[in-house]
Amino acid sequence: MKKTIGELLHDARQRLAEPAEAEILLAHAMERDRSWLYAHPKHLPTTQKQGRFMALLTRRLTGEPVAYLTGLREFWSMPLRVDQHTLIPRPETEHLIEFVLERLPDLPPQRVIDLGCGCGTIALALARERPHWEILASDRSANALALARTNAQRLGLNVSFLRTDWLAGITGPFDLIISNPPYVAESDTHLGRGDLRFEPRGALIAGPDGLDAIRCLVAQARPRLCPGGLLAFEHGHDQGAMCRALLEQAGYHEVGTDLDLAGLPRFSHGRRNACKDFPIDDPDLQDHDWRRIL
Ligand code: GLN
Repeated sequence: MKKTIGELLHDARQRLAEPAEAEILLAHAMERDRSWLYAHPKHLPTTQKQGRFMALLTRRLTGEPVAYLTGLREFWSMPLRVDQHTLIPRPETEHLIEFVLERLPDLPPQRVIDLGCGCGTIALALARERPHWEILASDRSANALALARTNAQRLGLNVSFLRTDWLAGITGPFDLIISNPPYVAESDTHLGRGDLRFEPRGALIAGPDGLDAIRCLVAQARPRLCPGGLLAFEHGHDQGAMCRALLEQAGYHEVGTDLDLAGLPRFSHGRRNACKDFPIDDPDLQDHDWRRIL
């Protein structure tokens, strides 16, 4: 039975836990924006478009994330393409970006690497704010990298891309190493709920305590930072103390944890000492041009 836009919205709002999602899905099926829906409540969509909407609604009712259904998620006021190969960008990561923008001087150009970039979330937000920084984004997933590259091109942002497993094969040095690594423990019951059920396991899970990737990151990053360079990464709300301990044991300075917008400990950071532990006579570190490896 054919229904108007107004009727379709009304019915879907009754069935969805989050009524506003009805508009997002119908706008997507109609290839229009949400304001068009409000202006055309009496419009009768074609059978094909109505069918498309009903299929999206069914998938949403079985739990599939809205971002995967529409293929889009807004982050840092940028529409990013997302798919099942990447984590869906989350608002808590915006706070990590605000933190590094405050900490790093705007000039001279900073050399930055975003590890495990997924759809490009962190690298693209930094490129948007600091177009003259030299930003490299890496991921071990070729599919994620392809998507991140597409996002950079669509947004006209200047980021280089590299497929690699954390910092293997990369010497740096960098002024900033940043990451939203996998940090969920493999037995965490949250993996069976909400959006996490549909997101790539490799982007979420990091061993029995969720810290495997962070341990690797902390160990690999320090020798690849410039004197005074900053490592900053996201983690679970209950992992702050462990992350600070890992950073301190590895010899980082100015170690700390900061809160996300919900007031939960969400990311930790440390610096490589400005001079004492930096091998300034080491020609490899002095002369290395990090772009040579691209
Ligand atoms: N923030 C996600 C969650 O716990 C996990 C993301 C990650 O592992 N990087 O819902």
